[in-house]
Parts: sequence; C-alpha cells; structure tokens
Amino acid sequence: MGDNQNLKCLLCEESCQEGLVILGCLICYDCEEKIVRTRVSENDYILYMSKIKKIWEVAITN
Ligand SMILES: [Zn+2]
Repeated sequence: MGDNQNLKCLLCEESCQEGLVILGCLICYDCEEKIVRTRVSENDYILYMSKIKKIWEVAITN
C-alpha cells in the first residue's frame, strides 16, 4: 500500500487519493455519493452498475 500516487477513480477516472475501495479498485467519494443517490436517476445507476460489474469481473479473473 505504498504507491498512492497514481490512484484513479474507476468511475470518473479523476485522480484521487482516497475513496471507497472495492477489491483494490478505487471509487472517489463524489462517485460514491452519486451511486448512493442514483436511486432517483436510473440511467446513471445503470451506468455505474455496469462499471462496478467490471470490477467484479477483473477480481474474478485475477
Ligand atoms: Zn469518481
């Protein structure tokens, strides 16, 4: 956990130093908040869930 220089949010791909870590992938707090709020916005929810699904696929194949 020494290399924090190149962390990027999985969803918005902005560089960020901290956030929600799921299986070694980082989601910035902004995106985390969006995910939490996307119950109202179904299109965003589908977009984010499809990206999160990729995390799981990577985790499984690794
Ligand atoms: Zn983000």
